[in-house]
Amino acid sequence: MIIAVDGPTASGKGTLAKALAAHFGLPFLDTGLLYRAVGRHVQLRKGNPDDPADALAGCDFPDSVLDDPVLRSEEVGGLASRVSIHPNVRAALNKRQVDFANQPGGALLDGRDIGTVIAPHAEVKLFITAPAEIRARRRHDEMQRQGINVPFADILADIRTRDERDMGRLDAPLKPAEDALLLDTGDLTIGEAVQAAITLVESKLRQK
Ligand code: C5P
Repeated sequence: MIIAVDGPTASGKGTLAKALAAHFGLPFLDTGLLYRAVGRHVQLRKGNPDDPADALAGCDFPDSVLDDPVLRSEEVGGLASRVSIHPNVRAALNKRQVDFANQPGGALLDGRDIGTVIAPHAEVKLFITAPAEIRARRRHDEMQRQGINVPFADILADIRTRDERDMGRLDAPLKPAEDALLLDTGDLTIGEAVQAAITLVESKLRQK
């Protein structure tokens, strides 16, 4: 079974994806991490993330980059969003994701285009959302807990910019697949959201 989990930044999709993978015993790939690794590699090479050739060169990152905690930073998230616009970058990362999705026994992947491009044949597709203000509040709280002080308004503006870039790009824009099940986590605790996601997957599997 393949489960595709897509949605915008800070929607809770990463947490849900991990919990679902553990619940259903599926190997898990956070595809955002690949784009983050490209963005980080471009930065280390002093390249320009908006330049397609520099961005493509960043796809040659060593696997050790994937373990660098700096990949989780807001700054690298912004670089990832910029390199991910380029079709040559998306093509370069495509095979790794498609192979992971199609491994024997199935897999769960989270990203932006899993249900639409990487695994359009996935048995279950979830699209996780929440209003931008709530996503910004979550991100703000998380950063405060880590001792990082950034004004709420800046975080909200950054989330809106990323949403627009991810939804507005021509190649593989962020959008729900036609047969995706929508889950708005805006009013839910993490525990409630995980339970709701499990229920959605189980109900979809019963229909098969
Ligand atoms: O999910 P995460 O915030 O780690 O993703 C970072 C960026 O990578 C996203 O803002 C998006 O631009 C890009 N991305 C993508 N396609 C994916 C996963 C991530 O374009 N499948």
